[in-house]
Amino acid sequence: MNKTGIGTRCVQGGYQPGNGEPRQIPIIQSTTFKYATSEDMGKLFDLEASGYFYTRLQNPTSDAVAAKICEMEGGTAAMLTSSGMAASFLAVFNICSCGDHFISSSSIYGGTFNLFAVTLKRMGIEVTFVSPDASEEELNAAFRPNTKLMFGETIANPALKVLDIEKFARVAHQNGVPLIIDNTFPTSVNCRPFEWGADIVVHATTKYMDGHGSAVGGAIVDSGKFDWTKYPEKFPGLCTPDESYHGITYTERFGIEGAYITKATAQLMRDLGVTPAPMNAFLLNLGLESLHVRIKRHSDSALAIAQYLEAHPQIAWVNFPALPSSPDYALTQKYLPNGTCGVISFGVKGGREAASKFMKALKLVAIETHVADARSCCLHPATATHRQLSDEELIACGVSADLVRLSVGLEDPEDLIADIEQALKSI
Ligand SMILES: *Cc1c(COP(=O)(O)O)cnc(C)c1O
Repeated sequence: MNKTGIGTRCVQGGYQPGNGEPRQIPIIQSTTFKYATSEDMGKLFDLEASGYFYTRLQNPTSDAVAAKICEMEGGTAAMLTSSGMAASFLAVFNICSCGDHFISSSSIYGGTFNLFAVTLKRMGIEVTFVSPDASEEELNAAFRPNTKLMFGETIANPALKVLDIEKFARVAHQNGVPLIIDNTFPTSVNCRPFEWGADIVVHATTKYMDGHGSAVGGAIVDSGKFDWTKYPEKFPGLCTPDESYHGITYTERFGIEGAYITKATAQLMRDLGVTPAPMNAFLLNLGLESLHVRIKRHSDSALAIAQYLEAHPQIAWVNFPALPSSPDYALTQKYLPNGTCGVISFGVKGGREAASKFMKALKLVAIETHVADARSCCLHPATATHRQLSDEELIACGVSADLVRLSVGLEDPEDLIADIEQALKSI
């Protein structure tokens, strides 16, 4: 299936029913699976045979959907998680242990930033944040002997900064570590980071992949290209025996194509249990079946609205990576030639008060913290999520008082523009 186009993979990837089997992915709503002998089940426990025994580790519905996302990204192995945060946590924790260090772009999702800076620190894992615009020399300078990976976001939420994936991949590989990319905003339809050298991709499937605001979820995909066995002392978890699995060495047993995801499933899912519900995997699959059609509409409508806003006398500034005025326009043309995402940020002239009036007057566009939904929504951080902060404090954390974040949905763009127009008139 990997040779088919991305749309065909969205619709038909992952699940291949046999003769007389259901056309749609069955929801295997079962915690457990029955076996004739204990020996049969023992082989599964020992990872000597593949199959299912307990849904905390693996479930056929979730695996079919993971296999689809794997084909969409062009990877060799994938797994679903209960949320995007769980995907990012497992992706890093599968490689890093207490005493290790990694390097992350500073322009990433706020929840991920907190996970890295605060929670992983409490576990003894240190992060250095680097500017996504840093030179290769600056990136190289951030490495330490115990650095185990680099991390970045294709299009950062909410800064909408586009990452130079090839630059990050080159530096990571020169230093013998993999690059993990959060590809949530563009999805595998608009960008496939493995084609630019990334080694592992994570998604918050909660966003465009689900696309209907119905199920929180995440995914991890391995390109199967990073050769852990070249650096066994750096990646002992993958290259030396796992005593909690009768001394299995993941790279020996599952090859470099399968070691990373097998370890994350067998060890981290077993112990942490951040498992998706089979029903949520099914809902995610419904979203994936139309992702290629929807993300194009989101991207096209957002560009039309960004252009409208840029020409509007009441708008102070617009940030959208597909606008020629964007500082990231060259990166967008390289990595995202077919579209970016549906999220725009812009400033309303008149600051905090004008932006607040604008928000109140919107009729079609709802006020929510969510993004990437079929229904348009927007957020004014200065009067919502960041309302305790002064104008000066807002600027210090990269959010100006006039900033409005708009997530353009699938409605007719003319109707959305008419709604924005009347809301701006009401200020
Ligand atoms: C939302 C989001 C996450 C976290 O996903 P959840 O499913 O909410 O846990 C991670 N990365 C990005 C880019 C996101 O937008």
